[in-house]
Amino acid sequence: MYDVVISGAGPAGSKCAEVLAKSGFKVALIERNTGWRKPCGGAVSSRIFKYYPQLRKLDLMPITGITIYSGDYHKLEYSWKDITEPSLTVDRLEFDNFIRNIAIDAGAELFDKNLSFDFVFKNNQKIGIKTKTPNGTKEYLGKIIVIADGMSSKIAPLSGLRNKWKIDEIGLCKCAIMEGKNLLDKSAISLFFRRYKGYGWIFPLDETHFNIGCGTWLEANIDNNLNQAYNEFIHDPNLKKFFPNKNYKEIWRGSYPIPALGVKEKSLFKDNIMIIGDAAGFVSPISGEGIHTCIVSGKAAGDTAIRALENDNISNQTLRSYKSYPNVKKIIRNFKMKVSIVDFFYENNGVNLNNMFHLAETDDHIRDEVVNMFLFNQAPTRDFLSKLKSMK
Ligand SMILES: Cc1cc2nc3c(=O)[nH]c(=O)nc-3n(C[C@H](O)[C@H](O)[C@H](O)COP(=O)(O)OP(=O)(O)OC[C@H]3O[C@@H](n4cnc5c(N)ncnc54)[C@H](O)[C@@H]3O)c2cc1C
Repeated sequence: MYDVVISGAGPAGSKCAEVLAKSGFKVALIERNTGWRKPCGGAVSSRIFKYYPQLRKLDLMPITGITIYSGDYHKLEYSWKDITEPSLTVDRLEFDNFIRNIAIDAGAELFDKNLSFDFVFKNNQKIGIKTKTPNGTKEYLGKIIVIADGMSSKIAPLSGLRNKWKIDEIGLCKCAIMEGKNLLDKSAISLFFRRYKGYGWIFPLDETHFNIGCGTWLEANIDNNLNQAYNEFIHDPNLKKFFPNKNYKEIWRGSYPIPALGVKEKSLFKDNIMIIGDAAGFVSPISGEGIHTCIVSGKAAGDTAIRALENDNISNQTLRSYKSYPNVKKIIRNFKMKVSIVDFFYENNGVNLNNMFHLAETDDHIRDEVVNMFLFNQAPTRDFLSKLKSMK
């Protein structure tokens, strides 16, 4: 019997496992495949160092700037070179295994090649997780169960916490890692807003590799074909200037959904279960950034479980502190604001978004507001919104 059984050893699950194991609790960390590379841009802000200072020692790409293009190719550039620590871009296969190993070193037991597909029940109570392995099914029993297996979770919809995702409450993304000489600024990430609800990106990984991808968002999933959107993006003539010789080759490609409407705050805990990371919607509805916020949710759930186990009380009353954990509350509030901004930006085929970029080109104050909104989680001011509205 484990104290905590965690399904999914991605960033959320691995952080949760590490926190618990460090405090001496017995943790089973269940993973379907440690050889899987999560489809992801892999851009991580320096906020990650608070949770993983070990990353500072790795030779990762330091990112000190961002260039954002509107659908009609107006451009906004921003550098934080002299202001704060560099952000990073990571290869998710290496990154996920790096942070999994930190959880294992802390004492968590990792069970690879285990696909969670159901709960174990006793007297109508969920007392563990059932998995499929290459050798048959297995059961992992625990006092507390944490669902951390991302968008494809089989057990989240069975938990009674939330339903299956609907097509118009998620984003659909496709990306690739490419190799080859290119003219990208290696110290900056680039975002390209599209004419549909969604955006494309190019993130340098090292001198000769970069991550390129795009996503459709919410109702744009229904009106647009993701493969077509991706092909149009990577062959966009406006991107050709970065790849003048077409001398790049695809070395990996993947597609994956992403939650797009913020945290499912009414579904975060029930009985002896908590749900964290993507599986609970901890992804920015405006930028799609989720690695850091999912890790925050993993830490909050881990700390909550520690308190519940120490007090021998795993009731709803105790698990509620996961939702009221200060950083989780902040994320919930911030993402709500972002959902309403996305709606505002994409009114009338993105007219407000385009206007914002036009204004930002000439008005430093607007530019700072845009950057603060995208990168630093600040709400836009009334003055900013009324300037945009007056441009209609
Ligand atoms: C294309 C794309 C680009 C993105 N780009 C960025 C970016 O640049 N920066 C950023 O911050 N965020 C980005 N995100 C979001 C980010 O990838 C996620 O928010 C983050 O990975 C979520 O972490 P997680 O641990 O909750 O879930 P995941 O990373 O999905 O991890 C879940 C883990 O559970 C395992 N698993 C799944 N099902 C089962 C099962 N049934 N049984 C056992 N194990 C299972 C998986 O193998 C995986 O290891 C992007 C997302 C997408 C789709």
